[in-house]
Amino acid sequence: MKTVRFKNGCVVPALGMGSWNIGDSVASRSEEIASLRTGLDQGLTVIDTAEMYGSGRSEHLVGEAIVNRRSDVFLISKVLPSNATYEGTLKSCEASLKRLGTGFLDLYLLHWRGGVPLSETVDAFENLVERGLIRQWGVSNFDTDDMIELESTTPGCAANQILYNLEARGADFNLIDQDSTSDIVTIAYSPLGQGGELLNASVLDEIAAKHETPAGPATPAQIALAWTLAKPGILAIPKAGTRRHMQENIAALSITLRPEDLARLDNHFPPPRHKTPLEMI
Ligand code: NAP
Repeated sequence: MKTVRFKNGCVVPALGMGSWNIGDSVASRSEEIASLRTGLDQGLTVIDTAEMYGSGRSEHLVGEAIVNRRSDVFLISKVLPSNATYEGTLKSCEASLKRLGTGFLDLYLLHWRGGVPLSETVDAFENLVERGLIRQWGVSNFDTDDMIELESTTPGCAANQILYNLEARGADFNLIDQDSTSDIVTIAYSPLGQGGELLNASVLDEIAAKHETPAGPATPAQIALAWTLAKPGILAIPKAGTRRHMQENIAALSITLRPEDLARLDNHFPPPRHKTPLEMI
């Protein structure tokens, strides 16, 4: 399986699992848990959550899904900017750990940049590392200038989680390269465009028709995911609320897009030619 390496030496599969909007409905709860467990059973390790998701309901559900298998998981959560003071960050992390039923996070992120000075939040992250409550820390939705500022304060950032998919590829100029030069992993969120219009693009259907996966004929979603997974060093975290979608996403790892496929995708979803502000959801 394609992997991504963090600066502390930890290596994870390049395909992870998102969890926004899971845990919100009693009716879909058992299927969502089964979906995450299917991912773990098939060798995925990264699960991404946040204190914001369902005001803690996503973390609760993830905690239930990983009972008795914490060692199989690379667990990511995030602190809200409004909680990211020194004391607030410590409190938020401890509350997330409780909801997740674990003693530590593998990666803890600032969800997006808010009004608290970065150095204050980073001091809290370092305290959490020293106490063993988190292994590494990072940020999310940080653009090139934010990253330059952060790196000038401290070299400890391990990851930047950003919106990145065929429709939102502004980070190709030049945030992803900049982060990679500093050994910071790019985590691509919403790689399926949240299951919206992106997946209706006819070009994805046309390319899918030329590929097979162990799970059957390729789908537009698998082609969109294969495009992100083809990028070196990027960790993609699609959210799949069902086992069927989880299996499909795992099968996308077997798709190798050909140069002509990539050229058609570039033609339909042109890469940026100049700097544009980082989009976020
Ligand atoms: P996404 O992963 O691009 O799309 C999720 C949607 O796609 C869901 O509706 C899902 O449906 C559907 N889907 C999944 N697999 C599919 C498949 N094989 N075929 C067709 N549809 C499929 O969007 P996202 O949830 O926004 O992003 C992924 C994760 O990134 C989030 O869950 C969250 O962990 C993280 N995130 C972080 C930020 C941030 O600010 N840091 C922002 C947004 C997201 P089902 O649920 O029915 O399977």
